[in-house]
Amino acid sequence: MRWPFGKRDKDRPSPGGAAHAAPAGARAMADFFAEAAREIDAHIAADPQWFPNLPYKGAMSKDQARQFEIEKRAMWRRVIHDARRSDLKALKWTTRGDELVCPQCRANEGRVFAHGQLPELEAMPLHLGCRCELLPERP
Ligand SMILES: [Zn+2]
Repeated sequence: MRWPFGKRDKDRPSPGGAAHAAPAGARAMADFFAEAAREIDAHIAADPQWFPNLPYKGAMSKDQARQFEIEKRAMWRRVIHDARRSDLKALKWTTRGDELVCPQCRANEGRVFAHGQLPELEAMPLHLGCRCELLPERP
């Protein structure tokens, strides 16, 4: 998995070649997955119809769909987290642009969050089945 941006600590040369502790604020991907699992499971517990209501259909089992939702959520959270720690100018909310996009997400299509607005973006709720992406905005 490649991220569109971000400065991963392991890509930086470490002084003297010695391993060093991650700087304050750095988070492991496992933390994002654990947090996303809690977030998704809370959504699932609150909506008995979550599975049939997903906008993507196909051969996915309930367990696979839950795992997919967790992965998407962890990535979404990670993108915002990395953007906040980078010098990126902004993130743009991008929907799939099809008829399955919900009204809530459609309203956010193309919305640009400047670096200073990333905490606001981070606090915005997301629904299960959201297929939106955050794209880096470069000047
Ligand atoms: Zn969405």
